[in-house]
Amino acid sequence: MPQIQPTTDPHALARELSGKHLIDGSLVPAKSGKTFAVIYPATQEVVGEAALGDADDVAAAVEAAKRAQPAWARRSARERGKLVAECGRALQAHAEELGRLMALESGKALRTESRVEASVVADAFTFYGGLGSELKGESVPFSPDMMTVTTREPIGVVGAIIPWNVPMMLMAFKIAPALVAGNTVVVKSAEEAPFAVLRICQILNQVLPEGTFNMLSGFGPECGAPLVQHPDVGKVSFTGSVETGKAIYAMASEKLIPVTLELGGKSPMIVMDDADLERAVQGAITGMRFSRQGQSCTASSRIYVQDKLHDRFLDALVERVNKMKMGDPLAEETDIGSIVSQQQYDRVNSYIQIGRGEAGAEAHVCSELPEDPRLAKGFFVQPVVFTGLSDDSRLTTEEIFGPVACMYRFDDYEEVIQRANASEYGLAATIWTTDLKTALDATRRLEAGFVQVNQNLVVQPGLSYGGIKKSGLGREASLEAMLEHFTHKKTVIMNMT
Ligand code: ADP
Repeated sequence: MPQIQPTTDPHALARELSGKHLIDGSLVPAKSGKTFAVIYPATQEVVGEAALGDADDVAAAVEAAKRAQPAWARRSARERGKLVAECGRALQAHAEELGRLMALESGKALRTESRVEASVVADAFTFYGGLGSELKGESVPFSPDMMTVTTREPIGVVGAIIPWNVPMMLMAFKIAPALVAGNTVVVKSAEEAPFAVLRICQILNQVLPEGTFNMLSGFGPECGAPLVQHPDVGKVSFTGSVETGKAIYAMASEKLIPVTLELGGKSPMIVMDDADLERAVQGAITGMRFSRQGQSCTASSRIYVQDKLHDRFLDALVERVNKMKMGDPLAEETDIGSIVSQQQYDRVNSYIQIGRGEAGAEAHVCSELPEDPRLAKGFFVQPVVFTGLSDDSRLTTEEIFGPVACMYRFDDYEEVIQRANASEYGLAATIWTTDLKTALDATRRLEAGFVQVNQNLVVQPGLSYGGIKKSGLGREASLEAMLEHFTHKKTVIMNMT
């Protein structure tokens, strides 16, 4: 297989990858020959055309994955792991290129977001590559005359459906464990960001056998749904909206196959009076992911600050966010790029309008829109910190997926725990305090799958990540995610009498 050389021109790469799926080791057009436009959201310029997948393409990709699976599963787990780790090294060599391509198709700033994502992708492959020998079972003392053991078996063909906000990383956390566990994979990319993930597959193709992973681009109902419904797909791992997650759950229930669902969030951040103000403000900026225009499922979008600290916190937060530079996502000096699409831009702006219309609410608008005339048509939204919103405001209860932070004043710890938990979501939560007892109590009582004290890290290889309530089902990014979500347990009893 010829080695692919990294390139620095994302435009050329987007053109090169245009009109293609990756099926059975080859870049191929959609069976219908149709494509759809992909834009640079900072200018609305068309950067390429993605293959428009439908049920026929799904059939071809699943068939390739099914054909490749038995031979892949027959390799030892350590050997599969070694190959997956080798993918990690190949991806690291392409990290800069992948970051640039990501910035181009998603509008996420290169320095603060897209480049960072590309290196997490390589880490994810390296991490899972080392876990081949962990696919082990137990021996059970069932009877002195019998040998009883459990083994971990691959499921078969896994379908992975990914969103546009961190598509490379979310894909990596699905396909690396699925492959190490002995499955083969068909991925459906997000319509807004199909190229960087396709490039990843092209890179993996240098290392892994044909058909072990396949990638389709296309829209949800026409390409994603047939993948979930395909009779030979034995498991679906999905990240996206609650609404689509429910539709996928319903389709999977018809076939009675397992699903992993990583859905939305409305994550609370609690700042106690005794917190370190500087660290907490920085934590709010990181947690809100302003650098990604707030397009994060874990965004700390409800910030509860105790009475005495509230006003100082607000001033410091606004002052810091004001210093963040909005601009061309591909430029090194840019801190904040653009929103991904017209649809999301309109959605976010509609929430800002609702907030502005709410009695008692105040919008603190930060930073400056870019002045560059080339970016005049870009989907840029200035970060906003709202104060004075009610607890039943739509801005408090609904996921906005934009640079809109809602700040609330509170007096009493018991009260804030209740307000923090009064959400249909349960993905992430943070508490900022120097009091150990409060910190420990909060970690126990906050209803979320991922709780942090005095820090706001994002997904890390090795740490189980996932939500409760409407934030989803199952966990990703850890050893447990590989064992529980990409294998089934077989009990084997051998009678020696
Ligand atoms: P977002 O708001 O992030 O676009 P979606 O849940 O709509 O969230 O999309 C996430 C992924 O799910 C995308 O790849 C999209 O194409 C896919 N998708 C959307 N609708 C369906 C569906 N009915 N069946 C399968 N996949 C879908």
